Amino acid sequence: TDSSSATAKPEAEGEKSTDDDDKDDKAAQSLLNKLIRNNLVNTTNQVEVLQKDPNSPLYSVKSFEELRLKPQLLQGVYAMGFNRPSKIQETALPMMLAEPPQNLIAQSQSGTGKTAAFVLAMLSHVDPNNKYPQCLCVSPTYELALQTGKVIEQMGKYYPEVKLVYAIRGNKLQRGMKLQEQIVIGTPGTMLDWCSKFKFIDPKKIRVFVLDEADVMIATQGHQDQSIRIQRMLPKSCQMLLFSATFEESVWNFAQRIVPDPNIIKLKREEETLDTIKQYYVLCNCKEEKFQALCNIYGAITIAQAMIFCHTRKTAGWLAGELSREGHQVALLSGEMQVEQRAAVIERFRDGKEKVLVTTNVCARGIDVEQVSVVINFDLPVDKDGNPDNETYLHRIGRTGRFGKRGLAINMVDSKMSMNILNRIQEHFNKKIEKLDTDDLDEIE
Ligand code: ADP
Repeated sequence: TDSSSATAKPEAEGEKSTDDDDKDDKAAQSLLNKLIRNNLVNTTNQVEVLQKDPNSPLYSVKSFEELRLKPQLLQGVYAMGFNRPSKIQETALPMMLAEPPQNLIAQSQSGTGKTAAFVLAMLSHVDPNNKYPQCLCVSPTYELALQTGKVIEQMGKYYPEVKLVYAIRGNKLQRGMKLQEQIVIGTPGTMLDWCSKFKFIDPKKIRVFVLDEADVMIATQGHQDQSIRIQRMLPKSCQMLLFSATFEESVWNFAQRIVPDPNIIKLKREEETLDTIKQYYVLCNCKEEKFQALCNIYGAITIAQAMIFCHTRKTAGWLAGELSREGHQVALLSGEMQVEQRAAVIERFRDGKEKVLVTTNVCARGIDVEQVSVVINFDLPVDKDGNPDNETYLHRIGRTGRFGKRGLAINMVDSKMSMNILNRIQEHFNKKIEKLDTDDLDEIE
């Protein structure tokens, strides 16, 4: 439907197209994940490696020492609290630091150590004695670029000779000036302008080109073209690195245009399962009854922390109010909040400052709060056509592999329609969802 959306009438003023929403959504989600995550995700899966030259030996490292990093950088790595390379870093780092440098396409879910890996590669490859840009890193948004910049600053803490500059809209430089910083990080549009129109950067001197969050990047058509135009200005010898959390066909096509002769590393996402979850449903007639059922559940069992999902902001706001009146400490996550505000709410919840997190479906998509033992679907997850959103259901209540603790999921049903959705979810996963009588709660523990 690409062509139809291209010819469609412009949206009413002030409204954005769904494409833009989708892109904003992806970028916001990615930022949210970065803001709330302060450690690696657990993974039991093995990396899959496709080497450009399958005959060359494949190196992987179990320690940062083996990489023979500059002492200042090793110090930086340890100061960040990293003891050993993550799964993806074990293979990606030796490839990126090899001589001659190798090109790489790497895919793994967020939180697996990609950013730390390419930051280390950039810092290792610059020569601080040369006062001109040698590494370019493009990110889909200003905020994401800033986050990566922070990692560069942290890791380069003991290597202050290396300087960093942001190629982002609003960062206006004097005409004719030449940048002295070794690393430039920014968004594709400004980066391209700085390389071609304004010539603040001499692209022929770039040694490392990083394209981060390729899946978010290609959601914006302009970004794709701009990135390719930057790439074409770089010398053949420049190391090209591309990272992505997901790998659809479109990402792959783009990746191949950005990175010639790549090594490829993939790490499968940890599978989520419902096997360790007790699933229930409660039959009600309206939202007030659902709220009463919720109170009964709270009266009957001890809930350390719960997440409650609602379909609309209005319901979420209402429910949070009612729960507070009942004396619960409630955190509310809602769509109108800035990403930073959302991250702050999630962080407080994660630290146990609030025991209940009420959120809209959209808001909490893609976030992991691992320690939550009870998940309540105050409204069942549905897609925009009103069909069951099985993927969201699974992500919300499912647990990953052997790290999963036992959990409890309670679904509130308040109409024939939602009963139908529940049945379809049950069929889809082929896992029984038991009926729960909230006036007689002996059965759940
Ligand atoms: P990604 O780019 O894949 O989302 P990051 O590089 O941002 O992943 O890493 C996720 C989190 O894990 C960050 O908080 C980062 O500081 C931390 N981290 C990265 N590499 C390591 C490591 N080797 N050891 C411990 N923590 C790490």
